Amino acid sequence: MTNKKVVYIDLDGVIVDLIGELNHELSTSTKVYEDPTDLIDDSETIFLNAKPIPHALESINELEKHYDVYILSTAPWHNIHSWSQKRIWVEKYLPSMYKKLILTHHKEQLIGDYLIDDRTKNGAGEFKGEHIHIFTDQFPTWQSVTDYLIPKN
Ligand SMILES: [Mg+2]
Repeated sequence: MTNKKVVYIDLDGVIVDLIGELNHELSTSTKVYEDPTDLIDDSETIFLNAKPIPHALESINELEKHYDVYILSTAPWHNIHSWSQKRIWVEKYLPSMYKKLILTHHKEQLIGDYLIDDRTKNGAGEFKGEHIHIFTDQFPTWQSVTDYLIPKN
């Protein structure tokens, strides 16, 4: 337990460049998808091989100096590989998030101060703390988020 404020951070599209890896796998896939995002439910590697979004890891390291930080992510229900791959990805890129990965379709159920999320889906829009809607006009970059959350001396 700590008395720091709690920050939850979404994975896909916030820390993990899932779209970049989606485009890469689509370019090498032998299957043709009517809806390209259907590959996300099909792929056995997409969540493992996706790269970090620029500045995300550094920003999280900064936030951890001031906040109790957790990862709060939704894993596709129909892609069972995604659940274990997210766990492996977090250990590889964010070892400090040891046992701080929460996978849920109901983000509104979590108690905390801030949720950094690029969408309102899976309860993010109903989160009881403050939803920091990253990569919108209000918070266009990771830098804008850390500027907002970390006080300047
Ligand atoms: Mg997301």
